[in-house]
Amino acid sequence: MQPPICSFCHRDQRDCEGLEFGLVKFANYEPLDRPGHPKGLLWFCSEHLEEAKKLEGLDSSTALKQLRSLFM
Ligand SMILES: [Zn+2]
Repeated sequence: MQPPICSFCHRDQRDCEGLEFGLVKFANYEPLDRPGHPKGLLWFCSEHLEEAKKLEGLDSSTALKQLRSLFM
């Protein structure tokens, strides 16, 4: 499992103390039966988590593209 770093803005807790993170499982999520970080499972900071969750029916690369168009 990767440490929490927002997949969208790439901030982590060292950049922003008190920033909360959550995981979103996308359509291309594949569980791993070994240690590591599963495909399609991404961290988001609290600022981007809510919008990311709305896109969980998409695969992760499509969802990231859509997020970019929402926030930029
Ligand atoms: Zn973020």
